Amino acid sequence: MTGASTAARRNVPAFDVEAVRREFPILSTTAHGKKLVFLDSGASAQKSRAVIEAISSVYESRYANIHRGVYQLSQFATEAYEAARVKVQRFIGAGSPSEIVFTKGATEAINLVAATYGVKFLKAGDEIIVSALEHHANIVPWQLLRERNGIVLKVVPVDDTGAFQLDAYERLLSPRTRIVAVTQASNALGIKPPIAAVTRLAHAAGAIVLIDGAQGVVHEPVDVRAMDCDFYVFSGHKLYGPGGIGVLYGKTKLLEAMPPYQGGGDMILSVSFEATEFAPPPARFEAGTPPIADAIGLGAAIDFLNGLDRAAVLAHEEALLAHATAALSAIKGVRLYGTAPDKAAIVSFTLAGVHPHDIGTILDHEGIAVRVGHHCAQPIMDRFGIPGTVRASFGLYNTLDEVDALARGLAKVREIFG
Ligand code: PLP
Repeated sequence: MTGASTAARRNVPAFDVEAVRREFPILSTTAHGKKLVFLDSGASAQKSRAVIEAISSVYESRYANIHRGVYQLSQFATEAYEAARVKVQRFIGAGSPSEIVFTKGATEAINLVAATYGVKFLKAGDEIIVSALEHHANIVPWQLLRERNGIVLKVVPVDDTGAFQLDAYERLLSPRTRIVAVTQASNALGIKPPIAAVTRLAHAAGAIVLIDGAQGVVHEPVDVRAMDCDFYVFSGHKLYGPGGIGVLYGKTKLLEAMPPYQGGGDMILSVSFEATEFAPPPARFEAGTPPIADAIGLGAAIDFLNGLDRAAVLAHEEALLAHATAALSAIKGVRLYGTAPDKAAIVSFTLAGVHPHDIGTILDHEGIAVRVGHHCAQPIMDRFGIPGTVRASFGLYNTLDEVDALARGLAKVREIFG
């Protein structure tokens, strides 16, 4: 074990990672005959037994379509679905369950805001500010709006450490700024923009704020009222929950002012061929049959997280990040991207002379799952003049030994490529 590793181990607080790992059945499987080392939770996290069982139990004994049924099973399903909404509300500190809209994921939530709030309230020449760190999900919906409404998209630059440039942001704000849409943590580099200052300055300029919490909510407790953001989005599958479910939080007065996103069942109060009256939020934005079991599964994922000491989880992840940063920096030819101090547990790097895909393939044969490429964040790759990186993104179930396995795997790559 390296000196850095010993130090990192000493700093790990009381958090029983082995007990947590036992709750995730997939973590005891193998890849290419080797023990699985899963370092791709930023793309999609693994699921605990509690989540898997919650979903199968819905289908075994509680499943029916919601809201419309007079029979008992439908009422059970409706109650469980709405209870999941309340769990989300409390988990992110929203004021009311009606501020929680279930979507397919973070992507759909941002598209929803662009296509409803954006189309209704923004005119040609109005400005939207994003950062250079954004995932494509927080870029392309605004570009679609630009094509439709003629808005102007402005981009906050980052410095060579990947840090969000607050000064430049202040200069970009103008009386035409209507929306500031910024990630809570970059999926490609892990960097966390200074959300509190971003929000305060946006509001002072008369703009509203959307926070892309896809990578933020998974690492740290979120309180949307304390953050004072106007919209907050995230995906269930990155929060150890099922796929196909995500969340749009919106302040009541904004959601109430927004037109529907899609039309169909469940989003109306009454329909005739002459006129349709829309339901209030959140139903207005949940047309059609939603992913019922997945919403309930997300509620189970939240229960699971609430059962852990989240401060200890965060400290554990910070120890993983510190250890990975030290261990990788010690490998000849490794260049880390995103070295600014305020980071989520993600390391993104290149190895001189070796294509990220080759690194990913060799690591895979060691049982180590990492992501390679542009991570759906091409503009930040362009900023650093690279086509892509290797990314290890840590979840609460990762261990310092797994970080060591990654470092050993990279040493092997180094040996192979000389
Ligand atoms: N925003 C960020 C920061 C992400 O990391 C991702 C997914 O990687 C998304 C948005 C999109 O999430 P989804 O594909 O679950 O909608």
